[in-house]
Amino acid sequence: MRVLIVEDEPQLLRAVREGLCAAGYAVDEAADGEAGLHQALHVDYDAIVLDLMLPGIPGTTILERLRAAKTTPVLVLTARDAVADKVACLDAGADDYLTKPFAIAELQARVRAMIRRGAGRPDPVVSVGELRIDTAARQVHRGGERVDLTPMEFALLELLALRRGAVVSRTAIYEHLWNDDAETMSNVVDVYIANLRQKLGRELITTRRGEGYIIP
Ligand code: CA
Repeated sequence: MRVLIVEDEPQLLRAVREGLCAAGYAVDEAADGEAGLHQALHVDYDAIVLDLMLPGIPGTTILERLRAAKTTPVLVLTARDAVADKVACLDAGADDYLTKPFAIAELQARVRAMIRRGAGRPDPVVSVGELRIDTAARQVHRGGERVDLTPMEFALLELLALRRGAVVSRTAIYEHLWNDDAETMSNVVDVYIANLRQKLGRELITTRRGEGYIIP
């Protein structure tokens, strides 16, 4: 899953980035309102962490413009804890908020929950046949046995499982699993799909030639 952070305070930006990378997300960042709005509109993020007080365009304006175009889940970071500010954020289209200072573990949990709800699957555990995919613990069990996946293998499985029943194109896989800085080989998706089939069974993922992959 790919997350955008819009935050102008370098220390906080770094802490949030490290926290989200550690949670297994591909992370992009923007340090001002204009860059944040541009990226939010042009990339199909799974979630956005948005600071309210930004140079350039303020966070509430970003929210309003984003909401006119798309439904990407947004968690707002605010230094202000006045009830009126929280109400204004939520009314402008935010899905959740955190008041600074906050614990990174809470940010990680809220982002996970937002991504699940955004995918229409509020249960953190996704079951596919005898597979049990725990998106909170980032663990997979097959028939009760733990299966070890690399972080990228898990990310690909999570993406396909959260969209179970829908074909996910190779372009969408690249967009959701890697950020713009990542250097990926053209066959990297095939490699991870092959790894998942080897570890979890060939029948799990179906290839739709010319379209993409699906967990039916
Ligand atoms: Ca700020």
